[in-house]
Amino acid sequence: MCGIIGIYGSTPDEKIPLKASEALFGLQHRGQETAGLAWVQPQDGLIRTRKNLGLVMQALDPSERPFGASHIAIAHCRYSTTGGSGLANAQPLRATCSQGHVAIAHNGNISNAGALRSELQHKGAIFQSTSDTEIILHLMAHRSDLSLKEALIAALKRLEGGWALTAILNNELIVARDTYGIRPLVIGHMEDLWIAASETCAIEQVGGTVTTHVKPGEILSLSESGPQLLYQITPRAQKICAFEYVYFSRPDSVLEGQSVYNSRIALGRALARSSPIEADLVCGMPDSGRISAIGYGRELNIPFEEAIMRNHFVGRSFILPNQDARMQAVRQKLRPVKESLKDKKIVVVDDSIVRATTSQYVVNMLLEAGAKEVHMRIASPPVRWPCFYGIDMPDQTQLASFNYSEEELCQKIGAHSLKWLNLDDLSLSICEKKDNLCKACFTGQYLWEVKNEQTF
Ligand code: 5GP
Ligand code: MG
Repeated sequence: MCGIIGIYGSTPDEKIPLKASEALFGLQHRGQETAGLAWVQPQDGLIRTRKNLGLVMQALDPSERPFGASHIAIAHCRYSTTGGSGLANAQPLRATCSQGHVAIAHNGNISNAGALRSELQHKGAIFQSTSDTEIILHLMAHRSDLSLKEALIAALKRLEGGWALTAILNNELIVARDTYGIRPLVIGHMEDLWIAASETCAIEQVGGTVTTHVKPGEILSLSESGPQLLYQITPRAQKICAFEYVYFSRPDSVLEGQSVYNSRIALGRALARSSPIEADLVCGMPDSGRISAIGYGRELNIPFEEAIMRNHFVGRSFILPNQDARMQAVRQKLRPVKESLKDKKIVVVDDSIVRATTSQYVVNMLLEAGAKEVHMRIASPPVRWPCFYGIDMPDQTQLASFNYSEEELCQKIGAHSLKWLNLDDLSLSICEKKDNLCKACFTGQYLWEVKNEQTF
C-alpha cells in the first residue's frame, strides 16, 4: 500500500513541491519505507526527483537541500506490496521516452503485472526495479506511435487490479483510478492550487477543500480550470477496498462520501449486536481497533477504557520477515495498563486478525497483568484469502483464519471468547445497501481472474 499526491499551480513556485511533501506527510500512515517527490524544472522542462528511505520528514527534508520552483509536483510514500522495499523501488519513477519526460506515483497492485512484464521483456524491455509501476513506463515507451497522453491512456487500459496514480507528462499533471475504484483518489482545491491525494485528510491538512472523488476508470488532467476528463476507461460497478475502511485509511478521511470514523463506529456497534458480552470495560487494540471499540462499548453501555498502551516510537511489527522478530516488535509496541484492568472482565476490539501475532501476545499480556477474563472481538470477518489489489496480506498459508477454525484460533490465542463480524454487517455498516465494496480477502471472490504466473 502507498500514498500518492499530485499538485498543480498556475505559476511555478517553490511552495508547490513543498506543499506536495506537506500533503504527503498526511498520508504517512499509508507507507513508511520510502518517500519521494518529483517536480518539473521550469527553465528546461526536465523532471527532478528526490527520493529516500524512511519517513517523509527525514526523506524529504527541504532544509537539507531546497526543492526547486515548479508549477507541478507529485509525491509518494511506499509500503511495499509488490517488489522489495529498497531505494530502487522508491517512487515517483521517472523516465524519458521518445515523446518526452514522464514521472509516475502509483498506489495499489497491478494484478496482471506478471503477464505484462514477461510480454515487455520478450520485446526487449530491461527492468530496473521489481515494482509493478515500472510496467506502466515500459508500456508507454513501446507506443512511440502515440502522443505521451495517448500512450498513458493505452497503458492504463491494459492494467488489471487496484491502482490509483498521479503522473507528470512533460508539463501536465494527470491522475487516474482503476476501473473498479478499488484504491481511493480524491481532488481538492486551495487558493490557486489543485491537489489530488489518496485520502481527504491530506488535502484538508494543507488547508484545501475536497471537491471531487475521482470515479472508477477516470483519467483526468488537472490544470488551472480544475479536473478535466481526458479519457474514461470502461467503468465497472464500484468496488472500493473494504479494508480501507476497516484498517488502512485514516479515521478523519472520507471515502466515496462515507466517513471512515463513522464506518468504524458502525462496525463496532454491529459487532456488539451480533456478538455481545457483559464486561467491565472495552478497550481497543491500539491504534486501529480503538474506534470500533468505542462503537462496541456505546452499543452495550460498557465503559471504554485504555488498557493497552502503544509506544509510538516503535517501527512496524506487521512487515518484519519472521515470527520471532514480529513477536519481539509487538512486545516492544504494546504494554498493559495494570491499574485499569486488574481483576476486570475485558473486551478487546481489533480491526482484523491476519497472522494472529498481535492477539496471541495481547491476550496473554492482559491475563498476566491481572485481567480476570479477556474476550476478543474483531471488527471485520476472518481474512482467509490473500489480496492481489494492494493490501499486504501474506500468502494464504500464513493467514490464521485459513489455518484454524474459529474455535481453534480462540484456543490458540488463549482468549475466553473470540468472535468476528459477519460479512453482511460489514457491508451494511460501511455502505448500507449499496454494496460497493471489494471483499475478496474475506470471500475469495476476486474481481479479476487470478493469474498465478511468476511476477519476477
Ligand atoms: P496479526 O497480528 O494478526 O498478524 O495482524 C493484525 C494486526 O495488524 C491488526 O492489529 C491490524 O491492525 C494490523 N494489520 C492488518 N493488516 C495490515 C497491513 O496490511 N499492514 C499492517 N502494517 N498492519 C496490518
Ligand atoms: Mg492494528
